[in-house]
Amino acid sequence: KSELLEVRDLKVAFTSRKASLPALQNISFALREGEVLGIVGESGCGKSLTSLSVMGLLPKGAEVTGGEIVLAGKNLCEFSAEEWCKVRGKQAAMIFQDPMTALNPLVPIGWQIAETAMVHMPVSRKEAHRLALDMMERVGLPRAEQLFREYPHQLSGGMRQRVMIAMALICTPQLLIADEPTTALDVTIQAQILSLLQVMKEETGAAMLFISHDLGVIREISDRVMVMYAGYVVEEAPVKELLNDPKHPYTVGLMKSIPDIEHKDKPLYTIPGRVPSLAERGEGCPFTSRCPHAESLCLTHVPSLTEQTANHFVRCHLYTNPGRDWEGDE
Ligand code: SF4
Ligand code: MG
Repeated sequence: KSELLEVRDLKVAFTSRKASLPALQNISFALREGEVLGIVGESGCGKSLTSLSVMGLLPKGAEVTGGEIVLAGKNLCEFSAEEWCKVRGKQAAMIFQDPMTALNPLVPIGWQIAETAMVHMPVSRKEAHRLALDMMERVGLPRAEQLFREYPHQLSGGMRQRVMIAMALICTPQLLIADEPTTALDVTIQAQILSLLQVMKEETGAAMLFISHDLGVIREISDRVMVMYAGYVVEEAPVKELLNDPKHPYTVGLMKSIPDIEHKDKPLYTIPGRVPSLAERGEGCPFTSRCPHAESLCLTHVPSLTEQTANHFVRCHLYTNPGRDWEGDE
């Protein structure tokens, strides 16, 4: 299948009159039609900034300072605000962690779904109403007729997320971006929303960028996984390959922090330390302060992203510096 989305050497920085702090460093990835790419990393790793860049929704102060975002053959970085609006909702749609912030509390949910259809497609109010009802049923919202007239606060968290999914899918976008869509929900509802996303992805053929801090959730839904740390891609591989053979010390830490359902009493492992803030990021490998394998080279040189085995990329000196544990060639 052909590439739907190609992000090449994307750089984003927070810029003020005094300084420019890089937040995303040469992010590159491609997404084929119907494929799910999981992006995993702790908060502050740049996963949300990556997805917001693709939607043209960067927060104030952040700007693209390099690279390209090519969606269906068009470089979005050259788009005007008006052109972006046409892409959002129609070609690419997004689901956020907290539907309450994305839904209008004063408009019945059915009409919010219908309005999305009317903004992007040449449909009458009546047709939009019918499309919305149909979509509500497809995403598993019960008693659609009655629910249509209810307000966001009258719904449970799981139902609100279903409303968001209906809004995102009503214009059959080619690309769906889900940023921590299940994080605010309890475990049972989380599983329901995940399987709904899987079903909808199959039905619509949309490609999906699925973002989460939780590798346990990412592995359920992704074909490929990209691990981000402090603005860098540190590892990328097909999901099975990554789980069987995690290479980057950060990925190994994330693997250890997946909750073990068979040993619920076992305390959850957390990687010691935290992601360095933008201002704290120095010269070398961004993981140095938390890495059990860090050596002097790591402090001074950012490792490059290299392909270790077919389609398995790693950014770590352990794998590129022949003097270390790694026995392969450079
Ligand atoms: Fe650890 Fe060095 Fe690899 Fe960074 S480059 S992850 S500090 S071993
Ligand atoms: Mg985030």
